Amino acid sequence: MPDLPTLDPIRVEQMIMALGAIGAHSGTGVWRTAYSPEWVAAQALVSDWATAAGLSPRMDAVGNLWARIDGTEGGKAIVSGSHIDTQCPGGRYDGALGVVAALAAISALTATFGRPRRPLELLSLCEEEGSRFPKAGFWGSRAITGRTTQADPEIVTDDDGAPIADAMRAIGLDPATIHTARRDDIAAFFELHIEQGPILEHANLPVAVVDAITGIRQTRVTLTGEQNHAGAFPMDLRRDPMAGFAEIAGRVIDHAHRLGRPAVTTVGRAIPWPNAPAVISRSVDFTIDARHPRPADYTLLHETHAALLAEVAARRGLTLTTDIQVDLPPTPCDPALVTLLQDISKAQGIPQLTMSSGAGHDSQQMAAVCPVVMIFVRSEGGRSHTPEEYSTIPDIMEGIRLLMVALHKRAY
Ligand SMILES: [Zn+2]
Repeated sequence: MPDLPTLDPIRVEQMIMALGAIGAHSGTGVWRTAYSPEWVAAQALVSDWATAAGLSPRMDAVGNLWARIDGTEGGKAIVSGSHIDTQCPGGRYDGALGVVAALAAISALTATFGRPRRPLELLSLCEEEGSRFPKAGFWGSRAITGRTTQADPEIVTDDDGAPIADAMRAIGLDPATIHTARRDDIAAFFELHIEQGPILEHANLPVAVVDAITGIRQTRVTLTGEQNHAGAFPMDLRRDPMAGFAEIAGRVIDHAHRLGRPAVTTVGRAIPWPNAPAVISRSVDFTIDARHPRPADYTLLHETHAALLAEVAARRGLTLTTDIQVDLPPTPCDPALVTLLQDISKAQGIPQLTMSSGAGHDSQQMAAVCPVVMIFVRSEGGRSHTPEEYSTIPDIMEGIRLLMVALHKRAY
């Protein structure tokens, strides 16, 4: 392999800070929701950087920014990037780091080796967090896969009921053309992202190769019993949904503990009604978020929960209703791309471990149209979705170096 380009850590840090300044909030935080003025400014800055690097930028119908350099031999494109929107507020790194990393890697490659053999593209995805439109569900990457319907722009709304179509029109996008964002000419998608958890920090390693993205199922559960007096009604005659809830919550959480990593189950929301100290509740409305990256374990997790819910409800005389609100199946990364990154790590002396992602990512959607793989960079304290999220420049540079060599191997 020819001598690899040297990456410039100062330039990378400048880009992270420049993007983080757009929508800067509460110190080191960033508040940059999809289609907001800050979002428009951030996409424009990335576009300017891409132009300066000799790439040709364009915004697709949904608001994803693509910046391309054509290959001498044509064929399907090698793509890298991540999302530009944030939580309210998030930090400087979630999403933005993957855009900066792709830009740094691609511009170093083109500056050193010129035009690639295969087309090479930077992708700055428009919406991943759901922080402005909670039901957008990977709006940018989903449009690329063609899974967004023509009706969706009017159906997907913010918390005030305003459709995403209005927000798109306000910045000059035409929601009626959203289907044109579909791509079927991508050979591989590489997404670098912060880990958002503590595993790399505990292992004292800078980067991870991601071999699977977790399956995520969120179920809304309602247990209904009979509302009665807390003193006058004997225990053996009660139909108490709080008792059923407490048993279910304890047992689903314990089940994930016993399965061991990477199984996770969270009961994050619970609303008893009427929620009064001297009243046996009439109902409890709660959620179960259960995740596993391996399909067989994912199925086992949910079958176990379904049986448990039914058994507890029946035994306690409670009415049970369930509504699956999110169901994203486990997504394995492309085995050849995983091996590629592992081999590069070994050859380049970049210490890594291979792990699954417990968070959802755009790559999960992109896997429907192309092989995908992710690179994680260590998160300080495992923190993310907060202004406190932080990754060091040395760790980031190891991640970008890994990405750059991979892009070189696939595109040149
Ligand atoms: Zn993210």
